[in-house]
Amino acid sequence: MVEPEQRPLLEVEQCVTSIPEDHEATCWGCGLRLVFASYSPVYKCGWCGAITQSNQTARKPDSICFSHWRRLRDRFFVTVLVFFMLFVICGGVWAVYPIVFSISKFCGILHCMVTAMLAVFTISSYCLASFKSAGAPTNIRWGSYPMVGKNDLENYTFCTYCNKPKPPRAHHCRSCKMCVVDMDHHCPFIGNCVGASNHQFFVIFLISVVISCAYAAGMTIYASYQMWPSVDFPNLASSHQSMSYMKILLEIITTVAGSAFFLSARGLVLVYLAFASLSVNAGISVLLCQQLSYIYEGNTYLNHLSSPNAMHGERGLQNIVRFFGCPYLISRVFLRYSNAGKLQDNSGSKLL
Ligand SMILES: [Zn+2]
Ligand SMILES: [Zn+2]
Ligand SMILES: [Zn+2]
Repeated sequence: MVEPEQRPLLEVEQCVTSIPEDHEATCWGCGLRLVFASYSPVYKCGWCGAITQSNQTARKPDSICFSHWRRLRDRFFVTVLVFFMLFVICGGVWAVYPIVFSISKFCGILHCMVTAMLAVFTISSYCLASFKSAGAPTNIRWGSYPMVGKNDLENYTFCTYCNKPKPPRAHHCRSCKMCVVDMDHHCPFIGNCVGASNHQFFVIFLISVVISCAYAAGMTIYASYQMWPSVDFPNLASSHQSMSYMKILLEIITTVAGSAFFLSARGLVLVYLAFASLSVNAGISVLLCQQLSYIYEGNTYLNHLSSPNAMHGERGLQNIVRFFGCPYLISRVFLRYSNAGKLQDNSGSKLL
């Protein structure tokens, strides 16, 4: 049998004239026997390019309790999120519409149209992120030498959960029970993994939530202000000279909070919606910025966790353009802009 070129992953390639002690292993990708001089826990097959871990053993499937718990957790979060979205949309329309229609009919109709547009955009991107498969690896031939060609399994590892080849940058998700290509993370709020196939919809969903919450916060704060009962500050008017700033602030807060008791049910819903949309907006904005920064770097959240300082490709605006699949013309403009910047930098460094 002809032995393939052997190359331990973590060693510098060198000419071996004699092998003092043989270390043998079998490549899981092509089934060829590998012999190399020194022991290495991780090695790469010189023929198919598959990476084998010598101490890797088959994993037991997760217990039924564990699988049930994960499924229940995902369903709970998805239900809470769906009800919250419906509450913000329906409650917001119900609480705000008398105020906007009291300004003018045009304002009322415009508000209804904007709300409907944002609701459709948010719910449809949520459904796409939630129901679309995150990106299962394509089936590839593996296991025996004549079937697997040279470099067919370049940098593939073996998933001991699925008992299948795992492409580079793919990770196994124990909640979805599958390997996911370019897996970013498993999101319990969409009950799905975020991977190569639905990452775009997930980020679009985050963007639409940020815009919708900003709009909801603006409208509910305005409507609350219009509906709030008139507030008097009798103590403040009589003795403001002798009061400290802290006392003045405390007086204002207690008087405004006290007047909230006279708010109608519609007013209370408005106040709750204003606080809820502001806090959700703050949280999702942080998550969106984090996602966009990883896309800019050409990275994913999981890869960032496993190797925070490693470079996973070229970073730049072109990654964001490619990620959103912008039309050809816009992509050209962006790429020309970023290339022009690089050319200027290069010319500068040559002159220096
Ligand atoms: Zn191999
Ligand atoms: Zn797997
Ligand atoms: Zn998952």
